[in-house]
Amino acid sequence: MSSGGSERARRWVGSFGTRINAFWALLFVGTLVVLTFAADWATRRALEAQDRDAVVEELRAHGDSFASGGLDALRERLTTRSDARISLVRVRADENRTLLRLGPGAAPSDGTLDALAPSPTVHVVSTQTHRWTVAVQRVGDDHVMQVALSDAWRDQTLWELRRVFAVVLVVALLLGLLGGFWIMRRALRPVRALADTATRVVEAGDFSARVARGGTGDELDQLAAAFNRMLESNERLVQGMRDALDHVAHDLRTPLTRLRSGAEVALRSGDEPTHAEALADAIDESDRVLTMLRTLTDISEAETGLMKLDRQRVDLAAIAREVIDLYAYVAEDAGLVLAADLDEGVIAWGDAVRIRQALANLVDNAIKYSRADTEVRIEVRAEADRAVVRVRDEGPGIPEDALPRVFERLYRADASRTHRGLGLGLSFVRAIAEAHGGEVSATSVEGRGSTFTLALPTPA
Ligand code: ADP
Repeated sequence: MSSGGSERARRWVGSFGTRINAFWALLFVGTLVVLTFAADWATRRALEAQDRDAVVEELRAHGDSFASGGLDALRERLTTRSDARISLVRVRADENRTLLRLGPGAAPSDGTLDALAPSPTVHVVSTQTHRWTVAVQRVGDDHVMQVALSDAWRDQTLWELRRVFAVVLVVALLLGLLGGFWIMRRALRPVRALADTATRVVEAGDFSARVARGGTGDELDQLAAAFNRMLESNERLVQGMRDALDHVAHDLRTPLTRLRSGAEVALRSGDEPTHAEALADAIDESDRVLTMLRTLTDISEAETGLMKLDRQRVDLAAIAREVIDLYAYVAEDAGLVLAADLDEGVIAWGDAVRIRQALANLVDNAIKYSRADTEVRIEVRAEADRAVVRVRDEGPGIPEDALPRVFERLYRADASRTHRGLGLGLSFVRAIAEAHGGEVSATSVEGRGSTFTLALPTPA
């Protein structure tokens, strides 16, 4: 056998299906063997009882013949109506003189038979070759009659029965093993498909691999479906990480290149004020890179549940006022009206610092993307079981196809390329919202403005 073949044989022997199959086959055969023994025992008992009845019946009939017509009548009867199985008939006179003995030499000797008393009627006597069922009865005043039957017939019947059982056992074992093997192969097919797919993903790095489903809806099919869902989410995650890495590399290149060329120009100029300006720019660019890296870390911490949230009762109107104060000058600079419509007493359950950061991001965007002489409005509302803060602007809006993507990491709608942004603000807001068990959503009409809604849980 080739090494591949022996490897396959080893896998087959050690496989789950083979083990289960072997277990059931053993159980099946074990049960059949026990059944065979039980049937053998019961049959032997029944045959023994039958033999006792037969010898007693035969003895009674022979006895009647002898009593009515003597030895001649008995001889006559024995030649015509004898039970073929009865092996020995003996009549003796009281003084132990044998008058008649018809039977094989292997039958119990006269001496043995003479020792048997007429009561009880039936005895069991062993010779070298057989066991004999012997019935003894007095006939007339001074004779004793004995009729004996060996177990040869019984043994023959029992052996025939055992042969049939043996054949049935072998056939059942073969059918059981083959059938079990076939059923196991079919039953475990989905599991093999699962293992093959997992191997393809792990060894070939093929994240698009999926388990083919039988569509039966049973437990294994559900497992395959769950496995496929897991693969899908893994694929999305891995793709997301690759994209994020690409974006980060791309987004770091610009500030770092600017930093480098600024320094180079300043170095070549040899001029003091240019140096100072280049250093200030370098600090700016470094801050930008640091902010980006810090925000990325915050987002992944929030998404993976590692971010520590200092949860408490947070008055949303108070938070909104703080953010409005913070952005009052920026809004004024941009020629915008920063309006507030705050319901009092709306309490969220969360980390005040993180909620303030999230709201600041939304207000920052609204101001950044709006034109002068428009309004940015902040609302605080209690809605259903949520504490909601909403930021409406009358800016350019977000194209319909870009709307579902604005919360993705490092995503920036093309129109906003003119503004300097990291593309991380909204993914940060979403990560914070979800870490709190809340959510953020956006609606927008292009050319008319956008509304961002941050919904947070309330204290239980
Ligand atoms: P950025 O740093 O680019 O602002 P964000 O994650 O905050 O990154 O926003 C992602 C994108 O969503 C922005 O680039 C912009 O295209 C769009 N966007 C966000 N807020 C607004 C808004 N209020 N009005 C119009 N577009 C917006």
